[in-house]
Amino acid sequence: MAQKIWRRFEGKVAIVTASTQGIGFAIAERLGLEGASVVISSRKQKNVDEAVEMLKNKGLEVFGVVCHVSNAKHRKDLIQKTIDKYGKIDVVVSNAAANPSVDPVLLTQESVLDKLWEINVKATVLLLQEAAPHLQKGSSIVIISSIAAYNPQPAMFMYGVTKTALLGLAKALATEMAPDIRVNAVAPGSVPTNFAAFITKDEAVRKIAEEKTLLQRLGTAEDMAAAAAFLASDDASYITGETIVVAGGLPSRL
Ligand code: NAP
Repeated sequence: MAQKIWRRFEGKVAIVTASTQGIGFAIAERLGLEGASVVISSRKQKNVDEAVEMLKNKGLEVFGVVCHVSNAKHRKDLIQKTIDKYGKIDVVVSNAAANPSVDPVLLTQESVLDKLWEINVKATVLLLQEAAPHLQKGSSIVIISSIAAYNPQPAMFMYGVTKTALLGLAKALATEMAPDIRVNAVAPGSVPTNFAAFITKDEAVRKIAEEKTLLQRLGTAEDMAAAAAFLASDDASYITGETIVVAGGLPSRL
């Protein structure tokens, strides 16, 4: 794959949240392969250390910071340590999310509603508030939403609602941060990561998910990384406030 990749992020600094595995890791790797200095983060130091090691072994410029996205001090640290190390921020990818309950909307506990809002939506806003003073003309933000933003799915109804909110957040921030900074989103379909294990580990459920797509397969983390890298890059310099659905042709109308 590496030989097909351009170097669109040469000299740029990119922060990716929740990036020690899965889609976030693939985005960090892609931006790094394209020349970015990449700051990866997640809740657990051990995961951060291991992911840094993996990316360094591929020859990438990478720096790791522990950041639980709903922890104010961690968010501050993530931004400040990036500035201390690299002096600027060109790209922020907000990728962290939680789906703490499979309950129907009308049975979801208030504490779960709060957690969904806090991690999936509020933490993105607060992280970007922290990052904004360091962003400059040409900086770019990518928010990871979900196909569930468009299509309510049993076991993830309220999660989907928070992901719909992110489509609105991308539009609102694109308006607020224009003309210097672009803000877009990616809405992944099902990708076999830990997060989606309840869909992708069971052979029968997985087959149904594959057959629902026009392309007859699940997505890969690399599919999502390619879209995120495009939106973050100058190739998308006339695109803002948009969401790219990367879901194998699943319907995606609100
Ligand atoms: P994943 O493979 O399970 O990876 C989750 C990553 O997030 C890990 O690095 C984890 O590391 C970190 N993390 C978890 N909670 C965190 C928190 N509160 N603060 C900071 N880091 C945290 O998940 P994924 O499937 O790649 O999902 C990434 C994004 O894609 C999410 O926004 C998800 O909603 C979206 N998405 C996924 C799918 C799919 O099918 N996989 C589909 C649509 C959208 P630690 O444990 O060390 O924190």
